[in-house]
Amino acid sequence: MVRDGVPGFAVRVGGGLSTVPRIARDLGVFVPVEEAVEVLRATLDVWKEDLRYRLSRVKARMKFMVDDYGAEGVRAKVEARLGRRLEDFTAPESAGFADHMGIHEQKQPGRHHVGVPVLVGLITGEQLVQVADLAASFGGDVRLTRQQNFEVTGVPAARLDQTTGRLAEIGFPVDANPLRATAIACTGEPHCNYAVRETKGKMLRVLAHLEERWGTRLENFRLNLDGCPHACALHWVGDIGLMGTTARETVGGTRQPYDRFLRGGVGSEQAVGRPLVRRVPSPRVEATLDRLIGAWLEGRADGESFRDFCIRTSDEELQAIAAGVEAGEGGEAA
Ligand code: SF4
Repeated sequence: MVRDGVPGFAVRVGGGLSTVPRIARDLGVFVPVEEAVEVLRATLDVWKEDLRYRLSRVKARMKFMVDDYGAEGVRAKVEARLGRRLEDFTAPESAGFADHMGIHEQKQPGRHHVGVPVLVGLITGEQLVQVADLAASFGGDVRLTRQQNFEVTGVPAARLDQTTGRLAEIGFPVDANPLRATAIACTGEPHCNYAVRETKGKMLRVLAHLEERWGTRLENFRLNLDGCPHACALHWVGDIGLMGTTARETVGGTRQPYDRFLRGGVGSEQAVGRPLVRRVPSPRVEATLDRLIGAWLEGRADGESFRDFCIRTSDEELQAIAAGVEAGEGGEAA
């Protein structure tokens, strides 16, 4: 941002998900660009030299220090270390969710950036080389997004059609269903030792089902799936978060349950979701998603987001919708 002609940063500290999710808090300062490294170093030093956060590996996170001292307390420590006060400043509201998909003009005249969905974030080495060659052919660049997609930048207007055509040939149609851009699944099985449930394979089946059932109606709908509580795919902050968990009992040896998190959000709607629907067996995940999405699409007020629908609907009602029963009754997914 630029404040009174000075480029710099607001600072937020203590964010993190995993088993103890926290939204970062505003440190309440403005840091000019040339002081950024110095302030970041002081912040990290304050944390790493406090031995309270070295006694237990699971507590070795800055978010626990921010819990203990508050953002004001952390700021006081940082300023004491720097030997000076920082400039007061209230951080602006975070930008809303943006996935940068599709074709957009750049600031540079005649150039465009093209956001490309990558289905469950899977791309081969051969495809990477082909995309790099394509970008190099017009002096462009390739950037990765946090939603496991990529952007090709610097595309001349005269090369747009050719570029999107070539991307489709490589396996990445730019006009794919919007869910493919917003849904993410963690690395999970079989590549991560922590995974207790399937992730990318399960998400592929879920997406195929949702695309067939709901077409393109789920634009900007964020579906986040993790194979364990570490939350690498941010299940806490999805419109619907799915987290693989363990079963209390096994049915036919393959219960494979997932917890369902609702009311999470990012950007201006940042919020940690709640695990409102527990231990849904894998074969029933698609049906419970359909019931929640259907209730939202049929019952929403003008343009109401899924998250707002979940906020105004009680826990009991959401659990009943997911289970396919009237509130107060038992159900298959509960
Ligand atoms: S969320 Fe868990 S299973 Fe998934 S990649 Fe992270 S540590 Fe592995």
